[in-house]
Amino acid sequence: MSPTEFESKYHTKVCPLTLYGMTSTLRELWKNQKPLSLPLNYKEQESFKTAFLKSKKPSRLAYQQLVEANCSYKISSQEKWSKVFPKARDLIWHDAYMTAIKCTKSAKLIEFHCRFLHQILATNVSLVKMGYKDDISCTFCRKEAENFTHLFWFCSKIELF
Ligand SMILES: [Zn+2]
Repeated sequence: MSPTEFESKYHTKVCPLTLYGMTSTLRELWKNQKPLSLPLNYKEQESFKTAFLKSKKPSRLAYQQLVEANCSYKISSQEKWSKVFPKARDLIWHDAYMTAIKCTKSAKLIEFHCRFLHQILATNVSLVKMGYKDDISCTFCRKEAENFTHLFWFCSKIELF
């Protein structure tokens, strides 16, 4: 749906980027319904759609719905955390995903928190894999490969912070 179609159908102005974000989030919601998660029945879909259209912050509602869906099965980032920190298996992921959205209104912090939990922040190791850099060594200590766990836990220079 284009912004002009949305404006003519719902009689409200919308930022094109916001509309794109909302539609792609909804598309992901419907596409990523895993068999282990409880699929929304018709009434739940209608109530979600109604709540989504009435909400002043529909992206938050969609994010909460995504969190609910992601908490019912193991996703790859949760497995990554479990390999490094075995106690992460016992973590209540729903609470972990909702922490930032409950604590701040800063979109940048919420996005960082989400990227952190899903381990999709750029490190030198990932940048070398993508072909943007040649050196995988840590930017701060230059002693080990800068992967996610080294950067946030095991780097001797980062520990000083
Ligand atoms: Zn380091």
